[in-house]
Amino acid sequence: MSKSAERRPLDGRKPIRTAPGARHTCRLCAHSCHNYTVVLSELEARRLALDEWRPLLHKVPDDLPLVQRQGAQYILNKRPDGACVFLGADGLCVIHKESHPESKPLACQMFPLQAVQAPDGVYLSLNSGCRRLIDQGEADPLLDEADARRMLSQAAGLISLGETIMLSPTTMILYEDFLHWQDQIEALIGREVSTFNEFWERLQETARLILTIEPEALTDPVPEWQIMFRRIEATLRGDHNHSGPRQMLVRRVLQWIPQLTQTGFPLTLPQLEIPGGAAFCARVTGQFLAGRQAAFWETAIGAWSGLVIGLTVGIMAAALIPFDPARYPAPGHVLNDTLADALMLMGLPSAAVSSELQKAFLRALG
Ligand code: SF4
Repeated sequence: MSKSAERRPLDGRKPIRTAPGARHTCRLCAHSCHNYTVVLSELEARRLALDEWRPLLHKVPDDLPLVQRQGAQYILNKRPDGACVFLGADGLCVIHKESHPESKPLACQMFPLQAVQAPDGVYLSLNSGCRRLIDQGEADPLLDEADARRMLSQAAGLISLGETIMLSPTTMILYEDFLHWQDQIEALIGREVSTFNEFWERLQETARLILTIEPEALTDPVPEWQIMFRRIEATLRGDHNHSGPRQMLVRRVLQWIPQLTQTGFPLTLPQLEIPGGAAFCARVTGQFLAGRQAAFWETAIGAWSGLVIGLTVGIMAAALIPFDPARYPAPGHVLNDTLADALMLMGLPSAAVSSELQKAFLRALG
């Protein structure tokens, strides 16, 4: 979690602000049940650790505890195959099916929405890690505010921002100043566009804007893109546990930087045949920004830079992965997958991104 954020209980006086277009629908793809760590409150931990659940569970060894303690936190355990201990053989959640949807851990009830408690309200937005986000539309229900308040009030702690935000490793800024930059970035890449090339131009403009945020960092006479990508490099280098494709990916990002900074670098994106794909990229970005999700990142500049490069790499990789109907319900899901993983990798270099997608990112970077 960012140095600007900590976990605190809901402040019931704060307004709930749901990002425009955020819906509350789970399409039961079970991706998050394989790939996320579910943090529990103490009450949830006690309830879900009970042996009474065991006869209902699938492939859970008898000696595997259902709940683990990690430092001060409780988390749901994973089966040897990597899935949550409560994921049934049919791909559905055993707690949801056998007990009640409201018996599930709060994090699972909320998904794909996530909450950030800021000084001016509690922000709900869509989590870009969701693999069926591209399917969200007007037909999906909006989250009822009373329901949101009920769920949030049960949370042991929400990610909460203070009055100051870590802009860079050396600079703290007021929350209002953070919003000033967020609003400008949102106006560029958080609004719907119709083509990928239009979106790419917006990404470039955003990169230029990010580079004006800390002008003293620009005394180095290297081109602007290079400074931005150096920050990404520092983020990626910060993880010493790279292995296999991840290590190669780090090296490839480094090789790619000089190409991007060359004068006349052809800044055009591959043509993607995905109807509504560019609008989807803008929607994901808009949710990230409106939901104050930069709170999850080490610094705000790291968050905004990672957003730009994650979108770029994710879009380029999507153009290279052939659509396989046996694997994906629709071509848009390839873009959904690559964007989700690229953004996760930029924000959390140790994230569990599949080796196959890392290889696609490598190919995208040339
Ligand atoms: S508790 Fe249920 S919904 Fe939550 S991760 Fe486990 S299987 Fe999925």
